[in-house]
Amino acid sequence: MESKKMKSSSSQNEIGDNNQMFHVEHQDKLPIYDLSFADMKSLFDKSFRAQQIFDWIYNKYENSFFNFDNFSKEMQNKLDENYTTKILREVKKSTSSDGSIKYLFALNDDHTIETVLLKMKDKKLDKDKNIIKSEQYTICLSSQVGCKLGCSFCLTAKGGFIRNLSAGEIVAQIVMLKKDNNIPAEKGLNVVYMGMGEPLDNLKNVVTSIDTITNSHGLSISPKRITISTSGITPKIKELGELDLKVNIAISLHATNDSLREKLIPINKSYNISSIIEEVKKFPINSRKKVMFEYLLIDGLNDGLDSAKKLVSLLHGIKAKINLIYFNPFEGTEFKRPSIEKAKQFQQYLTSKNLLCTIRDSKGLDIMAACGQLREHG
Ligand code: SAH
Ligand code: SF4
Repeated sequence: MESKKMKSSSSQNEIGDNNQMFHVEHQDKLPIYDLSFADMKSLFDKSFRAQQIFDWIYNKYENSFFNFDNFSKEMQNKLDENYTTKILREVKKSTSSDGSIKYLFALNDDHTIETVLLKMKDKKLDKDKNIIKSEQYTICLSSQVGCKLGCSFCLTAKGGFIRNLSAGEIVAQIVMLKKDNNIPAEKGLNVVYMGMGEPLDNLKNVVTSIDTITNSHGLSISPKRITISTSGITPKIKELGELDLKVNIAISLHATNDSLREKLIPINKSYNISSIIEEVKKFPINSRKKVMFEYLLIDGLNDGLDSAKKLVSLLHGIKAKINLIYFNPFEGTEFKRPSIEKAKQFQQYLTSKNLLCTIRDSKGLDIMAACGQLREHG
């Protein structure tokens, strides 16, 4: 996909309203979602065309260029000759008893990825103080087919690494889910990079995808509602921080000492806990936000009060919030989920030390859509 990407500044790729340059360097059609807003602006001699295309594909979820009725027939044909909206194909859809929906999408090379739509009811008061319930959506995006990092508790890791997703393949997951669920363009939603893959191992395309999904002419998702979850690739956390995209970061910590963390997350051998903590302290976060630390509770391994105590001291001085996650099982795993009481005790200890701590609801467990249960073949 990367090799197909067009150089935005190339004059060969210019698309003129007046039948000027309309030439692409390759024979295959380029998925339109792979173009950033800046790419599109440089391709057209009138920059409002970029806005119009963004509106069609990201607000109207249109997938035929021939329905772009503010483009001439000639331009529609040219778009169709050079670009395609075909980038993800729905292969399977499973709905959980809790309403979450897991999609299995095929890419153009027939590899597959999973994307999850999580639904939560949010209660708000209207101007007359009546309670109004509204649906809140969170989309859990994949960033790679498989993953290189081989964490021992993660099903995605078991299939090995196939390839990075292009920016368009990341962005299109949101469009597919919004369209399929008739979610209005203007409805705000949360986006978490917590599906298949390690987003910071595909940083370039992830950053381009963030640029597209936050663009005000398209999906217009506030960076405050975007969270990148990482297993802790320290230099990449630094790189992301320096870009100052205003997105949230979540660190998959899962252990409070390096020897256990290395067993769970092999990359900890290269980037240990203290290197991650040091880097997180420098990460630019919104003054009203906190850095999220995900902590997987595995029965008998890291769920005791000694670990909770260590966690408190590790996070000292960081504006942190902790999200406890029950280990979600899969066939063949040696790990077990702890009891609810054990998890609650762990949570209570952290709360008693004034740390904000929630226990994540394992949404989608019945359809294998919960954290760490995503894989190539649904
Ligand atoms: N690669 C990134 C993001 C994808 S994984 C990361 O590791 O952070 C999203 C979250 O699911 C991570 O916190 C990950 O540790 C967690 N996870 C992986 N396998 C899990 C499992 N079997 N049960 C519960 N959470 C799991
Ligand atoms: Fe990759 Fe994250 Fe799974 Fe580890 S937990 S193997 S980093 S997807």
